[in-house]
Amino acid sequence: MSKVDAFTSTEDAPGAETLAVRAGQHRGPEREHSEPIYTTSSFVFENAAQAAALFQEQEEGNVYSRFTNPTVRTFENRLGALEGGDFCVATASGMAAIAGLVLCRLKPGDHVVVARGLFGATLSLFGKFFERYQIGVTQVAVSEPEAWRAAVRDSTRMLFLETPTNPLCEIADIRAIADIAGEAEALLVVDNCFCTPALQRPLDLGADVVVHSATKYLDGQGRCVGGAMVTRDPDIHDAFFGLMRTAGPSLSPFNAWVFLKGLETLSLRMGRHCDNAGILAGWLQGHPAVERVFYPGLGDHPGHALAGRQQDGYGGIVSFRVRGGRREAWSVIDATRLLSITGNLGDAKTTVIHPATTTHGRITQEERDAAGISENLIRISVGLENAEDICHDLARGLDALVAE
Ligand SMILES: *Cc1c(COP(=O)(O)O)cnc(C)c1O
Repeated sequence: MSKVDAFTSTEDAPGAETLAVRAGQHRGPEREHSEPIYTTSSFVFENAAQAAALFQEQEEGNVYSRFTNPTVRTFENRLGALEGGDFCVATASGMAAIAGLVLCRLKPGDHVVVARGLFGATLSLFGKFFERYQIGVTQVAVSEPEAWRAAVRDSTRMLFLETPTNPLCEIADIRAIADIAGEAEALLVVDNCFCTPALQRPLDLGADVVVHSATKYLDGQGRCVGGAMVTRDPDIHDAFFGLMRTAGPSLSPFNAWVFLKGLETLSLRMGRHCDNAGILAGWLQGHPAVERVFYPGLGDHPGHALAGRQQDGYGGIVSFRVRGGRREAWSVIDATRLLSITGNLGDAKTTVIHPATTTHGRITQEERDAAGISENLIRISVGLENAEDICHDLARGLDALVAE
């Protein structure tokens, strides 16, 4: 039912910028220009026979907004077209997409290989919750394909990664890890939240599934929580759609509409996020109170060359270590006036957070150490403000550390 239908009123294969603005829209009898929001929980049938046909899936159409809503479907079609997928299913959050995928594909006794340094809630989901269902998890270094190969067992059914990672922006070689997954007959799932399809298309690189937190760059203005799963495999789609339909973590039509509007400006915004992040990373690198900067656009970043090949830009996340520990990191954060101290990322507004005590505060110390999330680490999600203003706001706290 959610087969991607990119309908754009053009005969030619449209470019990504065109898809981002137009894909998925079917103008209704009212001839509206902007996509309408269908705030209705259910839909009305012509007669009893049509109701029966729709319920038995003999006919396609809208039944109930837990699993069929036109605004949500427009978002699914647009995102699916941008990722180069054949199927897209939207979810209530990014975590709902990840949890749904595991629930519909894995069973007790199965094994998953995941990247160390995954988003904190994803690690907790695998480590704390799915272990209760006897789904074994091995964490490996995201940037070492051989470590992935070595971790694969007979029971491995899924490899799960983010690239770039949060917060250190390590880069995974999607194609190399897709080959390992293929040999093991396991699925490669890529969380494409940090790059978005504007910068990276994992399905083209061999991934089986892309998951998204639409909450971040797809919205782009920090308004709504949502997520999605995109694939080319009809079996994965059917299993996932069946679970979503039955378990019900569905995306609201209003949130879907906000994300649709966000997609229209995605490539423009991602370009500016990358430009600003590059400026900030270079500036931080020259500051005497900064110990180390993590940004794939910097020549000394271990993933620099790979990111250059695999991505169309280096992304909008910059992390750095200040000289000192938690006290010094907190003092730099607290000295900002422009930046927002918040855990969200991918917003037009630049945000700043101390990962060790917030986003990654609920994983174990051991996991934090392995992922390099030290007490002196600060993560910046670089927004769309003037880049000099962002640097200037961080200079206040950093300069004070030098003066101490
Ligand atoms: C935020 C985030 C998620 C979770 O998404 P929610 O929409 O908050 O549920 C998953 N992966 C990454 C990389 C994220 O940044």
